[in-house]
Amino acid sequence: MNRSRKRLNLHDILEVRHLTDTSFIIRFEKNDLEFTAGQHVCVGPPNGIHTREYSIYSAVNDPFIEILVKEVQNGLITPVLKGLKAGDSVVVEEPVGYFGLNNTEKFNKKYLFIATGTGISPFHCMVKSNPGLDYKIVHGVRTAEEGYEREEYEKGKYTLCSSRDTSGDYAGRLTNYLQDLKIDEELEVYLCGNCNMIHDAYDILENKGVPNDRIHAEVYF
Ligand SMILES: Cc1cc2nc3c(=O)[nH]c(=O)nc-3n(C[C@H](O)[C@H](O)[C@H](O)COP(=O)(O)OP(=O)(O)OC[C@H]3O[C@@H](n4cnc5c(N)ncnc54)[C@H](O)[C@@H]3O)c2cc1C
Repeated sequence: MNRSRKRLNLHDILEVRHLTDTSFIIRFEKNDLEFTAGQHVCVGPPNGIHTREYSIYSAVNDPFIEILVKEVQNGLITPVLKGLKAGDSVVVEEPVGYFGLNNTEKFNKKYLFIATGTGISPFHCMVKSNPGLDYKIVHGVRTAEEGYEREEYEKGKYTLCSSRDTSGDYAGRLTNYLQDLKIDEELEVYLCGNCNMIHDAYDILENKGVPNDRIHAEVYF
């Protein structure tokens, strides 16, 4: 029987940046992995058999790969990943996924990127991989400390909606912000994060006249 197998390799960890008590970025060796902005990799602890999907956070031309991870309480993998440090290694499968920009048209379009929590990760990659891209990001979080590395986005292009404090750009839920936002029907809209937000945002966008074929979504959980 001809069985296709995914390639699975150990990659050394180069750096871990803890951004909050529960979220962190793992930078590991790229080796010969190639990917397109928006794809994800399956990553797991070095001695385990389990992996989980993580969108690639770093840019396509960076000489390393970074993932942004939120520790899930009582989760199987994230508490273990959180304990890793530079010099340890992770198991990594080949990048996969269809969540991405249309490469032939990307500089002729305007993008609205909508994320909750670590759903910002593929958009960070898209923006850093494509200087000159015409985009706006709306990022929904609970508290403003989850506006991960928000200083990295160009001025005026990133709006942080924090539902439980007032230190973001908008105090309230991302979906409330979207309800009041004037949306250009020509926009290509990308959604990434938890499924509740994606369903609610989808309805809001449809009601505002954005056609289905201009709405793209990646559901994390
Ligand atoms: C395509 C894709 C890309 C993803 N990219 C990322 C990423 O870039 N960063 C990232 O942190 N996660 C990402 N995830 C989620 C990730 O794959 C894991 O589900 C998550 O890290 C939990 O793993 P765990 O083993 O610790 O928890 P598990 O033991 O697998 O799950 C415990 C429970 O937690 C839920 N859960 C998963 N994620 C969260 C969360 N963030 N908050 C609350 N509950 C959650 C699960 O649905 C499950 O019910 C992605 C998922 C998909 C499908």
